[in-house]
Amino acid sequence: MRTLVYRGPRVLTLEQAEVPSPAPGEIVVRVEAVGICGSELEGYLGHSSVRVPPLVMGHEFAGEVAFRASDADRFDIGAKVVVNPLLACGACDRCREGRPNICRDRRIVGIHRPGAFAEYVAVPEACAIAVPQAMDMATASLAEPLAVCIHAAKLGLAPFGDVLVFGAGPIGLLTVQAARRMGARRILAVDRQPARLAFAERLGAAVSTPDLLDSRYREVFGLAGTDTVIDCVGVESTRQQALALVNPGGKIVLVGLGHDRTTLPLNHAVRQEVSLIGSYTYTAADFDQAVALLASGAVTREGWTALCGLGQASESFATLADGTNPNGKIIVDPRL
Ligand SMILES: [Zn+2]
Ligand SMILES: [Zn+2]
Repeated sequence: MRTLVYRGPRVLTLEQAEVPSPAPGEIVVRVEAVGICGSELEGYLGHSSVRVPPLVMGHEFAGEVAFRASDADRFDIGAKVVVNPLLACGACDRCREGRPNICRDRRIVGIHRPGAFAEYVAVPEACAIAVPQAMDMATASLAEPLAVCIHAAKLGLAPFGDVLVFGAGPIGLLTVQAARRMGARRILAVDRQPARLAFAERLGAAVSTPDLLDSRYREVFGLAGTDTVIDCVGVESTRQQALALVNPGGKIVLVGLGHDRTTLPLNHAVRQEVSLIGSYTYTAADFDQAVALLASGAVTREGWTALCGLGQASESFATLADGTNPNGKIIVDPRL
């Protein structure tokens, strides 16, 4: 089979490999759609401490069950599935309290074991979720990033009020859609790139560039301001603006991993009782909710995503990393 191997910073090579055989408890999925994630762009550039070459990345994927181990019979051959790539131990204290995303021994498909930038990928059958047979598989592959956004929205929006979202890349755009479906009222999305803001506007958000944010914030939220900020970028400037703008007693949900170190006026957070909340991946319930929103058509990939084959994926990584790709998100179909 063909597989895309990360060999080092900015080097992704198309290589031949054996089709994986399923270990006990596993199925092998024929990949029909795998999204390129922002975290993988960081990996591609050599900025990720967890993505060590040689590695087959790919953790946002959907496809068809092609083979299965003799003890893995939950799915028929040919069944369409989306895969939750977060493999939690199921036994530690965090797992037992229903928080597998912060499992003390978590592993992720595409980081700790071969991922889906390949024609086939082996996964534990327990992490596969059935989707309707007729569902668009590229849409199904959005379940993973959408689940990230649903998790963040739940941490920040209770009850569901207004929200300021930093970033209108894939996670920002899915956060806008998730927050809206979950009952958020006014949504203001902030990004530097006009093309991305146009996507956010089409999805129903008010938009602003960072330099105009102070005045746009007052126009959109009025004197009441907003109690919730979701930062899908995670650099010093977005974190500082979030802290400066959020209401006293408000919450800043930190999703983006742009900078590891940030200088912030934390005494302001103390005096105003602002909560800084880390949000990482999702629970099984968040993932199921993401699949349901996509299957029902409430969240779509229309107008902000594009498809390419495995042969063009390396170039897509390069243009996405350089900011020259005009699409919000690229989804790879290894059959193309
Ligand atoms: Zn991702
Ligand atoms: Zn665990």
